Order: sequence, then C-alpha cells, then structure tokens
Amino acid sequence: MAILKKREIENLEQLSGEELERFLELLPAGQVTISLLLDYVEDELYDAECNHSLRHAMKFMMDNRLDFGKLTSWLTNNGGYCDCKIMEQIAPIWRGKFGDD
Ligand SMILES: [Zn+2]
Repeated sequence: MAILKKREIENLEQLSGEELERFLELLPAGQVTISLLLDYVEDELYDAECNHSLRHAMKFMMDNRLDFGKLTSWLTNNGGYCDCKIMEQIAPIWRGKFGDD
C-alpha cells in the first residue's frame, strides 16, 4: 500500500527541539528570509491579483539573490504552486509556528 507523502510543512506544527532545528537547517533559505518572502507576496497580492504563477515570489527571490531552484521546489512541494497558494497552503502554518512578524 502506498503511503501518501505528507507535505513537509504539515509536520512543522509538531516539531520542536532538534527536529525543528533540523527542519530549519534543511530549508532552502533562512527562517527570517522565508517570513519576509511571505510578507512580500501577501503585500503584492493586495495590488496585483495572483496570475497563477510564482511571479511575486520570484521577484522577491531575484531581488534578494536567493536560490530560486531550491526555493521554488520547496514551495511547490509544500503546495505553493503560485503566489496565492503560498499564502493559502504555507503562510498559515508557517506563521502559526513562527509568528507573523
Ligand atoms: Zn494563484
């Protein structure tokens, strides 16, 4: 029987101590950077609706010279296929864990 792979982000809520440290080490960018990315995407979506691409996220990655390949695959593996999905699938869990500032 196939086991459905849970999105990594779904485990985040339960992580603490060493597991949480490990999660953070494996992230494609720093914790603060990812929080800033979420804030940026959220702000941009107020002005320009999602066009079902990662255009706002990409802009942030470019401006901050982040590793797009790695970040994009992390986002999409966690359900963030486009800017609005990042806000819907990733931001609530992320902010629930790390706060939203
Ligand atoms: Zn979208």
